[in-house]
Amino acid sequence: MHACVIIDDPLLRENYGFLNYRKLLEMMDRHNFYTTIAFIPVNYSRTDEGVAALFRERSDRFSICVHGCDHTGGEFASTDRAYLARKVKLATARMVEHERRTGVPFDRAMVFPQGIFSNAALAALKENGYLGAVNTEPQAVDGPIVTGFPLFPRYKPEDVPDRLPDPLFIVLHHEYLKGGYGRLTDFVDALNARQKAIQWSGAGDILRGRLSDSASSLPPSGTGDEAFDGMDMGGFEFYGWKENLKIRVRRYASEFRDDYLSRNDFMLKTAKRILGHYRKH
Ligand SMILES: [Zn+2]
Repeated sequence: MHACVIIDDPLLRENYGFLNYRKLLEMMDRHNFYTTIAFIPVNYSRTDEGVAALFRERSDRFSICVHGCDHTGGEFASTDRAYLARKVKLATARMVEHERRTGVPFDRAMVFPQGIFSNAALAALKENGYLGAVNTEPQAVDGPIVTGFPLFPRYKPEDVPDRLPDPLFIVLHHEYLKGGYGRLTDFVDALNARQKAIQWSGAGDILRGRLSDSASSLPPSGTGDEAFDGMDMGGFEFYGWKENLKIRVRRYASEFRDDYLSRNDFMLKTAKRILGHYRKH
């Protein structure tokens, strides 16, 4: 059976909240598992070279896939086919640009932000050569899934069913590592002891392995894709300036919470106290 840990949201920087990639790699080598980062395409220009090198050199432990486009809530909940087609193109173009800048390939596998998606979103991914989607919520917003596009569930470590699914996708956020890596490595050790035949690999490779021969000619990644030439990667054309700025402010605010406040209990308490103070007065 195949398995993969998927961590949502982080930038490819030395540290993101409680996550440190070098430490994680050390743990993967020691305890045997694999991590795919669900990467937010709008962050395409913000990767550190040192971490990019780590991902290039250690593709036996690390890969990245696509996590939404701008990471706004319900951005793939629309049922407007034309809008979704453009959104998937923008997300893919950003990942292609990220690959061009960093040399880190990506898999055309989608993890929807907050797990929200429509059937039309699955269809748009299919049309754009995506291998499949992995999602915590197996329900589309517009009823039963009708596209036939590969969609696999994923589980928090504490929710992994007794009867292990194949493939087994496990979802984490950086907060899971708050008390160190022991919680994760204990979970992995127990899993590896229980199921000796686990083959750990990237989410994209696992999805590729599931495709029929006819579909396996899909592009492994977007390199060389000329459809994106001249596209506005910043999203200003797509959303308009005003909306795009709002999206960016929200993105930076949640990053600040993840990366800084979450690591600093004193600051988090102070921030809450200040917010409470303003609410009262
Ligand atoms: Zn996310």
